[in-house]
Amino acid sequence: MNTLYIIFFFILGSVCGSFFAVIGERLPKKENFTTSHSHCNSCKKRLKFYDMIPILSYLLNLGRCRYCQEKIPIMLPLLELITGLLFSVCYYSFGFSYNLLIALGVVSILMIVLVTDLTYYIIPDEVIVFFIFYFMIIQFLNKGFNATCTHIVTGLFLFSLMYFIMWLGEKMFKKESLGGGDVKILFVFGLVLEPLLGVLTIFIGSLIALPIAIIILLTNKEHMIPFGPFLIIAFAILFFSKITTLDFLHFLGL
Ligand SMILES: [Zn+2]
Repeated sequence: MNTLYIIFFFILGSVCGSFFAVIGERLPKKENFTTSHSHCNSCKKRLKFYDMIPILSYLLNLGRCRYCQEKIPIMLPLLELITGLLFSVCYYSFGFSYNLLIALGVVSILMIVLVTDLTYYIIPDEVIVFFIFYFMIIQFLNKGFNATCTHIVTGLFLFSLMYFIMWLGEKMFKKESLGGGDVKILFVFGLVLEPLLGVLTIFIGSLIALPIAIIILLTNKEHMIPFGPFLIIAFAILFFSKITTLDFLHFLGL
C-alpha cells in the first residue's frame, strides 16, 4: 500500500468534491457548470484559481469570501474533505482494479446526491444517466457483455420493485411518499450489486432513514424527508463491505 497513492487519491477526491458542490448546486437550477466561471454566490466576483484550492482556500481566507467577506458555507470544505478521505478509502480498500473505479463512482454519486437531495429534494436525471453509462462501461470492460446484460436486468428488477413500493406507499398514505429520483437510482444500484443485495440496500436504507424521519416529522410536520441519501449510504455500505449474496444467504441461515 503506497502512501503517495493514498495522498494522491485524497487530493483527487478533494478536487472532485469541490466540483460535486458546483454540480450539485447548479444542475437543479439548470445553470451551466462547464463553461461559466466559478463566482462568489454573494458578490458575484469571479474567483481566481487560488480561491478555489480545496480546503486550503477556505482555511487561508478564514472561511470568508476574499472580496466581500461573506461567510462561505462550511458545507463546501466539509464536502471536499470527506470526498478526499473517501477517495483514499476507495484506493486503500480496492487497490488499482475495476472495483476501484466502481468505488470512486459510488462515492461520487453519494456526494453529489447529498448536495442535490438535501438542498433541493431531487436527484437530477443527468446524474443518474451519467452514472448508468459510467457503470455499464466499467462492467462491460471488467466482466464482458453477458454479465453487463445481467446487471441491466437486475437494475430493471430493482427499479420495478422500488416503483411498486412507491405505488403501495401512495395508496396507503394517500400522498406522494418517494421522489422519482429515489426510484430511478435503484437502476444504478443494479448495475453494481447482485439482485438480493440490491433488495437488502432498500431495507438497510429504510432502517437508517426511519429514526431520522421520525425526528424530522416530530419537529416539523411539513418537512419533506429526502430518502435518496439514505439509499445511497446503504448502497455504499454494502459495496464497501464486499459482502456477497452467498454471505447474506449464510447469514439468513439458508
Ligand atoms: Zn464574495
